[in-house]
Amino acid sequence: PKALQGRVALVTGAASGIGKAIATRLAAEGACVVIADLDLDKAQATASELGSTDVAIGVEANVTDESAVQQAVDAALLAFGGLDLVVNNAGLSLSKSLLETTVADWDLQHNVMAKGSFLVSRAAAKVLIDQKLGGDIVYISSKNSVFAGPNNIAYSATKADQAHQVRLLAAELGEYGVRVNGINPDGVVRGSGIFAGGWGAKRAAVYGVPEEELGKYYAQRTLLKREVLPEHVANAVFVLCSSDLDHTTGLHIPVDAGVAAA
Ligand code: NAD
Repeated sequence: PKALQGRVALVTGAASGIGKAIATRLAAEGACVVIADLDLDKAQATASELGSTDVAIGVEANVTDESAVQQAVDAALLAFGGLDLVVNNAGLSLSKSLLETTVADWDLQHNVMAKGSFLVSRAAAKVLIDQKLGGDIVYISSKNSVFAGPNNIAYSATKADQAHQVRLLAAELGEYGVRVNGINPDGVVRGSGIFAGGWGAKRAAVYGVPEEELGKYYAQRTLLKREVLPEHVANAVFVLCSSDLDHTTGLHIPVDAGVAAA
C-alpha cells in the first residue's frame, strides 16, 4: 500500500501555490484530501485535478471564520469518514514596513495566520482526540518566524506566533499521539501567489533585480545554490507525516536550500 493509504488530510489555502503542491503530494501518497480555500470554484478545480471526489474534494473555507472552519472539518468526516493530517498553510503577505502597516493590515495578517491556524487546529484536534488514532498537524510557518527582515513586521510576527503554536500544541496533544510540527520555507518564488501578488515586485525592487530574476537571485543566496519550489515544501510535509518520523514532534524543518543556516 501507499504510505498514506487510508489517511484523510485537510490542507488550508490549498487551491494554489505551496498548499496545492502539498495536497498533490499527499494524494499521490494515497491520502484522501480536503482542499480548503477562499474560493469554492478554485478549491473544487484543484481537487478535480487530483482525481475524483473519492480522492479529493474542494470546500470554501475562510480560516478566519470559526463556523467555516468547522464545516471544512465536518466535510472531511462526511466525505472520507475521518481526519488524520491537517496542514495550516493558508496565508498572505502584505510586505509592509512598520510605518506603512495599518491596524487593519496587522489584524488581517494575524487573523488569517495566527487566529486561522488556531481555529483549524482546535477544530481538528477535537476530532483527532476523539478518534484515538493519533494524527499530524503541520504548520507552514516561515524562515521569517525566526529571522528578522525589513518590511514585513506583521507577517513575521504572526509567523512567529504560528511557530509557538507548534510547540504549545506539541506539548498539549502529545499524550493523544498527535504530532505537531512546522516547516520554515523561504524564497518559494515560482508558483507562489504571495510572490505574484506584489511581494515579488517589492522584494525585486529592494534587491535591485528584475522580478523575473527573483527566483534565481534567491537561489544564489542559499548554501545549495538551488531554487526552492512548492514541491520541496510538499516533500517535507510528507516526510513529517510519514511513520518514519513518528517519534518527532515540536520540530521546525527549514526548506530554504540553506539560507537560514548561512
Ligand atoms: P499562495 O498565495 O499561492 O497561497 C496561499 C493560499 O492561501 C491561497 O490559495 C489563498 O487563497 C489562501 N488563503 C489566503 N487567505 C485565506 C483565508 N483567510 N482562508 C483560506 N485560505 C486563504 O502563497 P504561497 O507562497 O503558496 O503561501 C502558502 C503558505 O506558505 C503561506 O502561509 C505563506 O506564508 C507560507 N510561506 C511561503 C513562502 C514563500 O516563499 N512563498 C515562504 C515562507 C512561508
